Amino acid sequence: MSIRYVRVALPVPMRQLFDYRLPASAALPSEGVRVRVPFGQRQLIGFVLATNVTPEVAETQLKDVIEVLDTAPLWPDSMWNLLQWAARYYHHPIGDVLSHAAPGLVRQGQLPSYATTTRYQLTELGREQVLSALNRAPQQQRFIAALQRGAMHADGVRALDIPSSTVKSLLDKGWVSAEQLELKPSAWQCEGAHGALILNEEQAAAVGAMSGPIERKEAKVWLLDGVTGSGKTEVYLQAMETVLKRGEQVVVLVPEIGLTPQTVARFEQRFEVPIVSLHSGLTDSERLQSWLQARDGGAAIIIGTRSAIFTPCKNIGLMILDEEHDSSFKQQDGFRYNARDLAVKRAYQEGFGLILGSATPSLESLANAKARRYQHLLLSNRAGGAKLAHHAVIDLKQQRLHQGLSDQLLATMAKHLQAGNQVLLFLNRRGYASALLCHECGWTSECDRCQANMTLHQQEHMLQCHHCGGQRRIPRQCGDCGSTQVISQGLGTEQLEEAIAKHFPGYEALRIDRDSTRKKGQLEQALQDAANGKFSILIGTQMLAKGHHFPHVTLVSLLDVDGALYSSDFRAPERLAQLYLQVAGRAGRAEKPGTVVLQTHHPEHPLIQELVNNGYRDFAAAALEERQQALLPPYAAMALLRAEATKRDAAEAVLKAMAGYLNQHPEVTVIGPMSAPLGRRAGRYRYQLLLHAEQRAPLHSWLKQLLPTLEKLPETRKARWSLDIDPQDFA
Ligand code: ADP
Ligand code: ZN
Ligand code: ZN
Repeated sequence: MSIRYVRVALPVPMRQLFDYRLPASAALPSEGVRVRVPFGQRQLIGFVLATNVTPEVAETQLKDVIEVLDTAPLWPDSMWNLLQWAARYYHHPIGDVLSHAAPGLVRQGQLPSYATTTRYQLTELGREQVLSALNRAPQQQRFIAALQRGAMHADGVRALDIPSSTVKSLLDKGWVSAEQLELKPSAWQCEGAHGALILNEEQAAAVGAMSGPIERKEAKVWLLDGVTGSGKTEVYLQAMETVLKRGEQVVVLVPEIGLTPQTVARFEQRFEVPIVSLHSGLTDSERLQSWLQARDGGAAIIIGTRSAIFTPCKNIGLMILDEEHDSSFKQQDGFRYNARDLAVKRAYQEGFGLILGSATPSLESLANAKARRYQHLLLSNRAGGAKLAHHAVIDLKQQRLHQGLSDQLLATMAKHLQAGNQVLLFLNRRGYASALLCHECGWTSECDRCQANMTLHQQEHMLQCHHCGGQRRIPRQCGDCGSTQVISQGLGTEQLEEAIAKHFPGYEALRIDRDSTRKKGQLEQALQDAANGKFSILIGTQMLAKGHHFPHVTLVSLLDVDGALYSSDFRAPERLAQLYLQVAGRAGRAEKPGTVVLQTHHPEHPLIQELVNNGYRDFAAAALEERQQALLPPYAAMALLRAEATKRDAAEAVLKAMAGYLNQHPEVTVIGPMSAPLGRRAGRYRYQLLLHAEQRAPLHSWLKQLLPTLEKLPETRKARWSLDIDPQDFA
């Protein structure tokens, strides 16, 4: 047999592929199979990308594959193709893409196998035993009595509290036998649904529009654009019913792990089918089991966060991406993919329907709907008879403020509380205060390693940097002049909680933010307490804004969102509009009408006027027009190069060198390098270079052509750099 070579993608930050010699004893692996190979001093797990290749390096430099790990490719063809496409589109090393998409244990080289359990049953000898003869060994007696009713799995034995010593002695006596069983997926069938509601006209029209393509298994994208409380979930559930009854799987992507238990519960109530979830809160082996159940068809419904987009499915019939505007669908480091965009690509490649749902759709998706690439389905009324909320603005310029609360807001709160209702206060700043300030010399509590102030955390008696995690003791005196006139500045949720206790001593308040929900289970508990009406006043950050259902809240107030009004990020107005409506959507969801109150120093700002008077749709229409005129996404393509280094010059130099090449294209505009808005983080200086083009194709082919040169520039050795395609975040 002649010598054979394979080309392998490895999890290294290089675009390059690596060739290895295949030992004569090994069977020729197919594309997509994992191999263990030597790499420098280490061994790495890689994926075979091509076989029977002609090596690109000299024979003497080639090393042997140590081990071929799989007999068949890990992913089905459809998913393999999607991953290849993603690597090309995001210009990201394929080895890193594959290792990111694989479950952790698989990445580490484990065989993707089902969990096993032990099955116990009585042997012939065991069956001959008389129970009463075991009166002096009550545990053995109990175990044998249980086994007389039938064989048992390990978890059943555990549930009976049979000691392992008992199990062992019966095994030793030869009365009981044990065998290892794989927990393989079993077939499922969806007979029907429990408690489906009668759809209103708009919901019925939406479900109706989906049913034809679903039955024909057509690739199709629907933008389900429905105000909060309009019953989008009911539309999802009824579309899912059609799919599940056909024996096909449904994948549901949600923005954050906090929303998965709630979603799982709703699906479990409706359908009697196997449901698995996939998110970062699971252990590696739990994730692998969910992944296998999805891949091999054992799971009917797969619910997960961003990375669940990479879960292969045996027979997918529908995908739902809820809160499609949410920025958490975009990965912000390493392999910077957008799960929403990959979902669209996957729907077309595999041939299934995709529902993008939101009360505040992204401008990207609205533009796609306008261009008829997606079908736009509107739900403009609240389902179940709940009224849309009343919106009001408090002009802070004429108001006295008590720790961020205006007189007018306090009076409104008192009214709602006295009526026995719940009030929700939204403030997107955790901690006690955003900085310490010297009243005499103007010194502020800046972090040593970041260009940002450290936040005061009164409960932990610490200053904490929210960018690098650094901590420091709270100084009694000014760091510069020694003055003791050090005051705190910028209201945080901790301080708000203190202020509320002072103003409303008769009512209980609950604060929900990252600090108050750090331990496992705390967030779920807090959300449950909030929803049950156990607390009269809810104080929260972003965490409280998303999708949660609080039936007793009638007043919602946004205390301070002015910072977003004058941001340099062109997406800031869109984000603020989405945030505003998501928070507002928490008011008056059930029988009780809701009120939304916004405190601002800029009541005349056009964005605020638009949101309060006309709502999201008008805002979005105007914003899309502005983007079109300014040639900004979605009417242009962007890519962002970032660099960081401990030496300021090194970070800037690498981007300068790259700009020298990149600005040679007539259709690509290069802006920068410039210092990032957060100019220094964790001791590293940060720079950016923005690439802009009216069309996506020239930008991408230009990058493809130049990246091999750019990544070899000598300046890259002195700075970390990265490329972000379709960047969402410019911080
Ligand atoms: P969304 O996800 O659009 O914010 P939900 O799906 O949570 O809205 O629905 C809001 C409320 O309206 C829920 O309590 C739901 O049970 C109820 N609902 C939805 N559709 C209907 C319907 N057709 N008839 C009556 N109640 C409905
Ligand atoms: Zn000072
Ligand atoms: Zn810091």
